[in-house]
Amino acid sequence: MMKTLEIAVAGCGPAGLAKALLLHRDGHRVTLFERFDAPRPVGSGLMIQPTGFAVLQQLGLADTLLALGARVDRLHGEAGSSGRIVLDVRYRALGKKAGFGVGVHRATLFTILLERVVAAGIAIETGCLVTGSESLSDGRRRLLIEGERSVGPFDLVVDALGTRTQLAPPCGRELAYGALWGTLDWPDDGGFDRAALEQRYRQASVMAGVLPLGRLPGGTREQAAFFWSLRTDRLEDRRAAGLDAWKAQVVDLWPAMRALLDEIVSPDQLTFARYAHRTLRTPAKRGMIHVGDAWHSASPQLGQGGNMALLDAYALAMALRMAPDVPSALALAVGMRQRHVELYQFLTALFTPVYQSDGLLLPFIRDRLVGPMSKLWPATRIQAAMVSGLIGNPLRPLGLAESTISHEH
Ligand SMILES: Cc1cc2nc3c(=O)[nH]c(=O)nc-3n(C[C@H](O)[C@H](O)[C@H](O)COP(=O)(O)OP(=O)(O)OC[C@H]3O[C@@H](n4cnc5c(N)ncnc54)[C@H](O)[C@@H]3O)c2cc1C
Repeated sequence: MMKTLEIAVAGCGPAGLAKALLLHRDGHRVTLFERFDAPRPVGSGLMIQPTGFAVLQQLGLADTLLALGARVDRLHGEAGSSGRIVLDVRYRALGKKAGFGVGVHRATLFTILLERVVAAGIAIETGCLVTGSESLSDGRRRLLIEGERSVGPFDLVVDALGTRTQLAPPCGRELAYGALWGTLDWPDDGGFDRAALEQRYRQASVMAGVLPLGRLPGGTREQAAFFWSLRTDRLEDRRAAGLDAWKAQVVDLWPAMRALLDEIVSPDQLTFARYAHRTLRTPAKRGMIHVGDAWHSASPQLGQGGNMALLDAYALAMALRMAPDVPSALALAVGMRQRHVELYQFLTALFTPVYQSDGLLLPFIRDRLVGPMSKLWPATRIQAAMVSGLIGNPLRPLGLAESTISHEH
């Protein structure tokens, strides 16, 4: 067994909070550092897949997640108002291994994790903008904080600062398309499926989606995440055109949206999310490891980022339990995750232009060929495995049994 380590976790997102919980549980002394004065979630909804769910089960949080979130059994997409089905993914296509997705508001996932962190008495230093780190001759590291402060030394620094981390050199590229996101009340008679992520596309340049989110902590009304893809360089034009012109465009694509859009009375109810595609070549160096979006981020097309962050967190905790020292633990943790990370970064890069780009050929093939073919076996099964995050068997090296994600939960 390795001695008790002094560990700094930078960032209070899903990766950082899960990481802090797992390391604290193993007896290490953990301090979280967060730029916000009070830790808070950013953004709207996300989907927890069977992979992320398996980690939350290990943390004893799966039941709370299910009680608040919305169980999602299928993903459904249609081309424009033609009614042509071009995306039809059902988790049950995985047969015995079938699981489900859980749509949640980020605030829900965040609150569930944060409450557990606070209950465990893990230290959180807020209002700390991390600007870098400094490696010491004995292998330990100090964290540099804005205002010429430095804290530590720590046996290990975990970088969970997200896509725009200041603990790693910039890499990758910003994507041309982002999306407007809003959190709205679930329209009870709006013609949406409570157990599905539904999307509508026009070519690849227009995409709208509705994801059920369940309830916010303390809330009583069920919520929906609404998203509308948009080129970053067209954001200003859209703002200038005004809310009504934009609503007309959405309803033209998807008439059932009218009920949801009535809830949007101000542009402030929508947040624009920018996406980047990046993967660090070296996810660990002396006394520091990058996890979650700090290691790898992508467009949320396959909806894996939060789930991969949870898997990264679990892998590091496990490696620290197995390895004799910090350098070997970091190598082991990266080894447990690298193949899966590279595979999903590749798949996301492959699929993003099919749903978010200016091209015409890819959406044409998608609508006429891939859509119909994808309803046939074995495509049904491959798609379900891909969306579940299970391609490449990421749970096996982590000792997380697939039986724990039973369909009958
Ligand atoms: C619109 C959108 C939809 C998505 N949908 C899905 C989905 O359906 N399923 C899915 O799995 N993933 C989804 N993702 C991706 C997912 O949200 C991310 O992969 C996940 O949040 C990564 O977690 P993280 O903890 O690594 O980073 P983050 O969530 O980015 O957390 C980073 C934390 O670090 C803090 N921080 C940042 N910089 C500093 C600094 N310098 N000093 C101190 N603190 C700092 C931030 O305030 C934040 O608390 C989506 C992403 C977006 C943008």
